[in-house]
Amino acid sequence: MVDEEAGVVLRARIAAAQRICVLTGAGMSAESGIPTFRDALTGLWSRFDPAQLASEEGYRADPQRVWDWYAERREGVRAAEPNAGHLALGAFARQRPGVLSIVTQNVDDLHQRAGNADAIRLHGDILADRWLERCPERGTGREACATGGAEPGRPPRCTRCGNLVRPGVVWFGEMLPPGAMEAAERAAAACDVMLVVGTSGAVWPAAGLAGAARRAGAFVAIVNPHPSDIDGEAHAVLRGTAAGVLPRILGVGVEGG
Ligand code: NAD
Repeated sequence: MVDEEAGVVLRARIAAAQRICVLTGAGMSAESGIPTFRDALTGLWSRFDPAQLASEEGYRADPQRVWDWYAERREGVRAAEPNAGHLALGAFARQRPGVLSIVTQNVDDLHQRAGNADAIRLHGDILADRWLERCPERGTGREACATGGAEPGRPPRCTRCGNLVRPGVVWFGEMLPPGAMEAAERAAAACDVMLVVGTSGAVWPAAGLAGAARRAGAFVAIVNPHPSDIDGEAHAVLRGTAAGVLPRILGVGVEGG
């Protein structure tokens, strides 16, 4: 099913649903001016090598280069505003409390700023600082020292334990934040409708959530202007953008929020 017909069916499913799970990817924030990773013309990976910029090895090899690259991306995220798609999800959550769960692969904070503070973040938070090595004071995690600050630098360094500061995102080969995937799997298994918005479906385990929802009985719909790797999991595919399709599908205008 595509477009017109899919839109009608999906609106009816959404109206009747008691639980809706929305899985979002970089395309969700594209219309806010934050580049996606894989779009051929504008995607970040077409201009940069992911192995150097999004891995611990790359950071250790050239901390200043990687820090500077993330500092620029952080500026881009801080300057961006939620688009009509984020705002529609925020408005929907206010109108139908308890129905929506958002699972995002995005490291920006645009869902949170649009009113979905409890969005599950599978790949971390680009605006958060983490320590490169385990902190000797904390023992387990790589959160900042409880009492330490970081002295300015590229990258900054902890004034207490000397750790280099790194962005709080999940790099290639790293574990997802504790509990995040489990919470996402629960939301996928419990939903009546899963909306997959702006993801290429190339990054696992997030990409597996659409199939998991379908196997658990959910109606799965994809919103993406281009084909994705997981279109085969969908009952309906809407070839449009997040900001163009979500307000219409969710039945909330941007002013509705
Ligand atoms: P991706 O770059 O692999 O795919 C982006 C998808 O979005 C593509 O399928 C593309 O067709 C679609 N798209 C482009 N514009 C769109 C629009 N306006 N509306 C709807 N869809 C649109 O991104 P991904 O699948 O999220 O996976 C890559 C990784 O990229 C994730 O792990 C994520 O952490 C990271 N990432 C995050 C951000 C962000 O936080 N905003 C930005 C870039 C990359």
